[in-house]
Formats: sequence, C-alpha cells, structure tokens
Amino acid sequence: MTFVVGVTGGIGSGKTAVSDHFQRLGITVVDADLASRVVVETGRPALAEIAAHFGPEILQADGTLDRAQLRTAIFKDPSERQWLESLLHPLIRQEIASGLKNASSPYAILVSPLLVESGQSQLTQRVLVVDVPEELQLQRTVNRDNNPPEQVKAIMAAQASRQQRLNYADDVIVNDGSLMDLQEKVEALHQQYLTMAKTSSE
Ligand code: ATP
Repeated sequence: MTFVVGVTGGIGSGKTAVSDHFQRLGITVVDADLASRVVVETGRPALAEIAAHFGPEILQADGTLDRAQLRTAIFKDPSERQWLESLLHPLIRQEIASGLKNASSPYAILVSPLLVESGQSQLTQRVLVVDVPEELQLQRTVNRDNNPPEQVKAIMAAQASRQQRLNYADDVIVNDGSLMDLQEKVEALHQQYLTMAKTSSE
C-alpha cells in the first residue's frame, strides 16, 4: 500500500505551492479539487443525477454543470447541500483512491482543502498542515484572486480555524517566508517521508 501524506490548509495558505514542489521532487500528487470536478464531468452518472434532481436548468447550454447555479441552490437550502454531498463524497473518494493507487513514487501526496472535514484523511497515513498568519493569508489571497478583502475574510471565517487545523496536524509548515523558504521546508519533509515510506513498507 502506498504511504500517503495529506496536505491541507485554509484558503490561500500555500497548499498548491507546497504540492507543486512535492511534484517537482518526483512525488505523485492527487488533487481533491480536481477529483471533485472529474466526477461531474459530462457523461458521468453523477451529472445526470444532479440534472434529474435540480432540473435541467442546472446545466449550461453545452451540457456541462452550471457551478454558479449549483452553488446558489445548495447555499439556499442545507438539505440540498446534504443531498449533493452524499452523492458526491463517495465518488470523489473513489476517484482519489484510484489516483493514489496508481502512484508511481515512493509515497504520494493528497492535497485537499477539506482533508479532515470530508473524511478523506482516512486515505492518508499522515496529515501535513500548511499554516499561515491570517494577515498574510488575506493579503496573498486578495492578490491572487483579485477579490475584495471582505469576501476573503468571510471565507476564512467559515473555514476551520488555525488552531483546529493544528490540532489534527502530524506535521506543520509555517508558510510565513519566501517561496524559496517554503521549498526548503518541503524538501526537509520530503526526506522524512521517504524514510517513513521505506519503513512502513518493510
Ligand atoms: P486555495 O485553497 O485557495 O486554492 P492554496 O492553499 O492552494 O489556496 P496557493 O495558491 O498555493 O494557496 O497560494 C496562495 C497565493 O500565495 C498564490 O498566489 C501563491 O503563489 C502565493 N504564495 C504562497 N506561498 C507564498 C510564499 N511563501 N511567498 C509568497 N507568495 C506565496
């Protein structure tokens, strides 16, 4: 079984910067966000179920999912969110598990914003939290997305707190320096994970 490290953190914490660097080091990275898009691609059974449940107006003219409409529908009604999550979570999990199974490196990374909240951490042996001071998190996210600070603050407030994440972390990267500093921290953990993966397969 592949040794899997889950990477998580809040919005704009640096998860992608971290997982990109693991990938550069030759490690297979499975992205939960990508998996959640794949399971509702055209032709997938989940898309037909969503259209049957919410009506055809949930699809765009080209037959693909209208994500903005779906977001509005589940935002208005928590029971609709629950319905959607119970449909998609098992499928996303399957998609992730198959990506991890096909990993071609000594260990694999699963990067997920909701690693623990969604139960995906059950697919991992270790949880790496990317932690960042809130001021810096806000500044980097606003710069990246060009969104108003109030909107980013609202998202941050709705997510798990720094302390909640640190409570379930096995490893922590504090992403408060340069990108170069971040890469060095990833490289140090990479060495540890290579050793752990080797030990766990013996
Ligand atoms: P999301 O969950 O919103 O997708 P994320 O956790 O994947 O975010 P990134 O996209 O990796 O976060 O980082 C957010 C932004 O901050 C990006 O523009 C990234 O280039 C930048 N960034 C990340 N780490 C650093 C750093 N150490 N120094 C400078 N910029 C950084």
